[in-house]
Amino acid sequence: MDYRKTIRLYYDYVIPCYTRTPLVLERGKGTRVWDAQGDEYLDFFPGWAVSGIGHCHRRVVEAIKRQAEQLIHVSNNYFHELQGLLAQEIIRHAFPGKVFFCNSGAEANEAAFKLVRKLGNPSRYEIITMDRSFHGRTLAAVSATGQTKYQEGFEPLVPGFKSVAWNDLEALERAITPQTIAIVLEPIQGEGGVRVADDRYLSAVRRLCSDRKIYLVFDEVQTGMGRTGRMFCYKNYGLEPDIMTLAKSLGGGFPIGAMVAKREIADALGPGTHAATFGGSPLACAAALATFEAIEKEKLIGNAVIVGSFLFKKLNELKKKHPMIREVRGMGLMAGVELSIDGRGIYEDCLKERLLINCTQGHVLRLMPPLVVKEKEVSRAIQVLDEVMIAVEEKSLTPPPVSSVIGGPIASQS
Ligand SMILES: *Cc1c(COP(=O)(O)O)cnc(C)c1O
Repeated sequence: MDYRKTIRLYYDYVIPCYTRTPLVLERGKGTRVWDAQGDEYLDFFPGWAVSGIGHCHRRVVEAIKRQAEQLIHVSNNYFHELQGLLAQEIIRHAFPGKVFFCNSGAEANEAAFKLVRKLGNPSRYEIITMDRSFHGRTLAAVSATGQTKYQEGFEPLVPGFKSVAWNDLEALERAITPQTIAIVLEPIQGEGGVRVADDRYLSAVRRLCSDRKIYLVFDEVQTGMGRTGRMFCYKNYGLEPDIMTLAKSLGGGFPIGAMVAKREIADALGPGTHAATFGGSPLACAAALATFEAIEKEKLIGNAVIVGSFLFKKLNELKKKHPMIREVRGMGLMAGVELSIDGRGIYEDCLKERLLINCTQGHVLRLMPPLVVKEKEVSRAIQVLDEVMIAVEEKSLTPPPVSSVIGGPIASQS
């Protein structure tokens, strides 16, 4: 089908709640995707980190095929081998606890909110989150998200949430009340502009939570599964949350979410308290187990560390060269490049050069290549960014054409 027809169908029949780039994708493998015209793109933002181990990873594809022929769905009133095995695998990499399965990041966070509310019921219900956080788009998740742009128009919000300044211990302490039951944060804020939690801040928050019997919840929906050079980002800090949420790359591209809770608190969600019809289906669990297998057998975390440090070295060189780069932030293969200019033009120019990246908060370029990425692909991406930035700088140095000065934008169009 002609790609224009594909786009037309969206305009006619798909609810327009997304800002979409007119790119019709057809096929993917590893760090590459191909559009409907057969053009190849280097993907440094694979499905918002969903395809974290690369597009159509061989092990994930095989696992899905095999399981699809056997049994696709089992209701959660019965048992299936793979759900227990996946829970065990997650716990093996995390902390002693248990897992609730769902289908997305927002749903995993909802499960965390419900668990802590159940634990605090009836007197403690307040959940403190962080400014510029992002926790998903369901009503409770946007209520938790510390950015009004996601909340406007959907009021009244779910009560009991408030957000405080990021990396600011005093602000957090001031916000705690006797009703506070949990603190929720992303160890690295993704959508908020790749803002890394300070070491001392996170340690202090951990102590504060333990002292005040407040549950510490880490939203690792974006930072989990090896992205930051450890299986979960919190491991970079030498501490543990009480609850962790996962989704995005957990299924190697297949939808699955998980809420992981410490053993002592997990059973508070007893029979009948919470559910997700599709949660932890055999197909999703097969995909997630294959993802863990790929990460371990192919030493993808080691690759994330090595290629990640190469990426940051290159980005910091780029920063020395281009004054438009204010700051380079991140960890492992999660990088944010804060610009002094609007980043959307850079995003679009990279797209023209067949490099897919993301721009968040209007001026932070976000690069999260698949864990299988190679140094030469990083070099290629850096080269594209360099050229695109040079072009932008040259344009800003060139005086505008006389016609546009005299006649304004109308005249210059003719
Ligand atoms: C993407 C994201 C979510 C929401 O996940 P969905 O699967 O879209 O519901 C929640 N938290 C973080 C940190 C995310 O990056």
